Amino acid sequence: MANALILQLDASGAPQAWVDWKDAVTYQAKDMVVWSLGEVEFTFYGGKSRLTGEQSSITTASIIAVKGHSGSKSAKYKVPTLTNKTLFRRDRHICAYCGKHFNFDDLSRDHIMPVSRGGADNWMNVVASCKPCNHRKNDLTPEEAGMKLLFVPYVPSKYEAMILRNHKILADQMEFLMAHVPKNSRLWENA
Ligand SMILES: [Zn+2]
Repeated sequence: MANALILQLDASGAPQAWVDWKDAVTYQAKDMVVWSLGEVEFTFYGGKSRLTGEQSSITTASIIAVKGHSGSKSAKYKVPTLTNKTLFRRDRHICAYCGKHFNFDDLSRDHIMPVSRGGADNWMNVVASCKPCNHRKNDLTPEEAGMKLLFVPYVPSKYEAMILRNHKILADQMEFLMAHVPKNSRLWENA
């Protein structure tokens, strides 16, 4: 469990970052945790006290709200970095053209408007596509290729971005984040 990440929120409950247990313990020690959530608690043990012989320990929850980050200016939403990993996760490893499920290695990043024709490499112009579909589409738009997009691209929300960024999300953290994910998100499809 020591490698599980802790979900850091601001005092209003907006997600800020995934932090490791050392950061969480620092927030606890500095009395910066205003409230916490989650079923999972992590306890970390320090050295033994020379006076009492008791081992020191500190406990942190899997979701913590940290003060000093609220006011939402510091919590400005950053659009998640577009990588094949985050894209395929957004699209649930489903090809946007044939609708079948594929492994990471069998998918590719398809630019709806091809880059060679001025299409942008951003969230709104890309979908996951299996290699045969991508090959068939070639340097054409879906209309020109006679291929229909089964779903439309979108920019992940702040909550989705947090989900896309971490592969080892605990059940209670996932539940918290999914409660804020828009109902039209594809993340719901296998949630
Ligand atoms: Zn396909």
